[in-house]
This record gives sequence, structure tokens and C-alpha cells, in this order.
Amino acid sequence: MRAPILSDLVAAGQRLDISCGCGRRVLMDPVEAVKKFGSRTGFADIEDRLVCSACGTRGRDRRGISARPCIEDHYAGMRGKGWGVG
Ligand SMILES: [Zn+2]
Repeated sequence: MRAPILSDLVAAGQRLDISCGCGRRVLMDPVEAVKKFGSRTGFADIEDRLVCSACGTRGRDRRGISARPCIEDHYAGMRGKGWGVG
């Protein structure tokens, strides 16, 4: 199984969930994320390229910026397919 990439988010209709240790969180539309980072980019590579505009933390310093699929959108998609959650 290959590592997830941004085009998977577009296919799933899931936003990119970017959060920083300082508490800043941004939900980016997957189509916008592909425009910015490229469709075949993995999440670790996205983290490497992020800089928090609130506290200045750089993702490549490995100090607490994470980029991952939005879990709320994941559950919303599952509900849409008839899966119960919780
Ligand atoms: Zn921050």
C-alpha cells in the first residue's frame, strides 16, 4: 500500500487539516491544497514546507506542525455512506 498523497484527499472530498503546537488550525480545501503543493505530494512533505503564520514554527524543524486528512470530513463521508459513528 502506497503512502497517502494529496490527490487521495480530492478523491475523498476531505480537507487538509493543518495544525500547529501553538493552537493554530487551518482546514484547507483539497483542491486548493493540490494547487499549492501538487497532487502527488505526501503529508510529511507538506509539513516540511509549512511555516506557521501565527508563531513562526517551521514544519521541517519537527516542532509540532502536522498536516493530515480532516478527521471530521472522514466521519462525515462515512455517515454519507451509511456508516454510524461513535
Ligand atoms: Zn504556530
